[in-house]
Amino acid sequence: MHASLAEWWNAISLRTKITAVTVLVMTVGLVVSGFGTMTVLRNYLIRDADTQISQTLNHLSASTATADEAAVATQYVYAHVDASGNVIDRNPQWRANAPVMPRVDAAFLQKQGTSAFTVKNDAGAATFRMEVRRLPDGTAVALGLPLDTVNRLIAQLFTLFFVFGIVVVLLGAVVTRLLVGSTFGPLRQVERTAAAIADGDFGQRLGNTTPNTEVGRLNRSLNRMLNRIDGALADRARTIEQMRRFVGDASHELRTPLVSVRGYAELYRMGALQSREDIAQAMDRIEREAVRLGALVTDLLALARLDESRELKRTPVELLPLAHDAALDARALAPKRMIRVIAHDPEMPTGAIEILRPVISQDESEAALTTAARLFRRNGAPADSSITGSIRLASARLLRARRRADEQADDEARVTSSISGSVRPVVLAEEDKLRQVLTNLIGNAIRFTPDDSPIEIATYVDRVRSRAVLEIIDHGDGIPPQIRDKIFQRFWRADSSRTRDTGGAGLGLAIVAAIVNAHGGDIGISETPGGGATFRVTLPLLPTQDDEPEVEVDEDSDQDAAVA
Ligand code: ADP
Repeated sequence: MHASLAEWWNAISLRTKITAVTVLVMTVGLVVSGFGTMTVLRNYLIRDADTQISQTLNHLSASTATADEAAVATQYVYAHVDASGNVIDRNPQWRANAPVMPRVDAAFLQKQGTSAFTVKNDAGAATFRMEVRRLPDGTAVALGLPLDTVNRLIAQLFTLFFVFGIVVVLLGAVVTRLLVGSTFGPLRQVERTAAAIADGDFGQRLGNTTPNTEVGRLNRSLNRMLNRIDGALADRARTIEQMRRFVGDASHELRTPLVSVRGYAELYRMGALQSREDIAQAMDRIEREAVRLGALVTDLLALARLDESRELKRTPVELLPLAHDAALDARALAPKRMIRVIAHDPEMPTGAIEILRPVISQDESEAALTTAARLFRRNGAPADSSITGSIRLASARLLRARRRADEQADDEARVTSSISGSVRPVVLAEEDKLRQVLTNLIGNAIRFTPDDSPIEIATYVDRVRSRAVLEIIDHGDGIPPQIRDKIFQRFWRADSSRTRDTGGAGLGLAIVAAIVNAHGGDIGISETPGGGATFRVTLPLLPTQDDEPEVEVDEDSDQDAAVA
């Protein structure tokens, strides 16, 4: 019952509810005030009649002799009765109204007090106010005042109130309905727009109603929400599209080496590879493809991890030593290249440090390579030409470790002194990830520029923007402006032949961009003065409590800064 009432109430439209409640409240208010007014007025009039009766009776008691005439001449109903109720005298009104007069007998006289009472007719309507007063001689006087004037007045008032009330209620209902209708008009538009959006028309927006009304505010909020939803949907669609493309490209990239490996396996099974030489060549190819596959999977994994937005294991990292290490690695990959580490903005005329790294001599490099190859062999890893690059890298690291061990204390002192004069480019970052950024960018610089062209790695602090800057500057063909945005896309590369010989799978820069992004940094490309590409990575500087004042570094310490 209760539930169905609530259901019924909920099923009524808001417009009807507001109109009904307003009309109800208005009706109740009018009824209450009408009855209240009538009751108060009637009581007042009756009290007035009572006072008149009482005062007249007082007068009659005092001068009985003139009572008859006085009463006769007035509007009063008057009777003088003896102790047993027999009428001694009365006025004509008493007679005229005889049927409704109480029998003023002894019992009545006994019962009756001194206060006035109401005499009702057969229909129960009050017709008189009457008071009976005993006189000192034992007789009693009954004096009444007709209430017809009072009754008429109240009846008129009731009629007036009734008509007036109905008019007010009707008018109130119409006005409320119109007002609610016009106020809720825009809501109907909201309703229609919402329905259109629900049907898939996401471009719909709510009209501009008066901004400071409830509906206006609602419209504004809804429009904001719709814009957000629209943006989120567009993002989602874009992400899904990217994902689809990514999966497609990744499958394609993975398929190519797999098809190749399978092809060689099939050739072998069919007996097409007869000589030892053929088999060795096939194995070499298979191994290359496996290495390529491994590199691809590593890149894909790195991207997937970055996409997961895992918490980075950040520590304060100084960029200059990182640049040194990267230069050493690069030197191992391309021993003949001139690779420089610069500790200031290369475009600014400055007295700050420039560190030229001496080339590791060919002999040293070869020696390290031999050592590394021996180590690889001992550990069961294949050591042949296909992984020369890896071995070179490993050998360089070995070499570096040995030298570091020898010169550690001295080296550190010199590195420190070389940069103590200026604000160090220190960032809060995951060191391995930053190393990966350098490896990828320098790897590209080596791969996409002629063997004899130099490469610079610059790192410094952009004090204006409070950023640490890392620049990889090459002097190759450069990157045309129209493809600068594209090269950070996954699997994008200028050469679409999809072979490792001309580069990678097009994931290197995508990984770099993802890492820089994860660190809250930016990456941009510009033209190197004189030709070539400059990749500029900026990262938020590690906030320090007391920013060191910048001090010019003198020439001597520049010399000291050369570390090897
Ligand atoms: P890949 O793994 O193929 O090197 P990247 O994402 O690292 O993929 O690079 C994408 C493309 O950007 C490369 O194929 C190359 O065409 C271009 N590119 C990258 N770095 C350089 C550079 N230093 N000079 C010229 N072109 C470059």
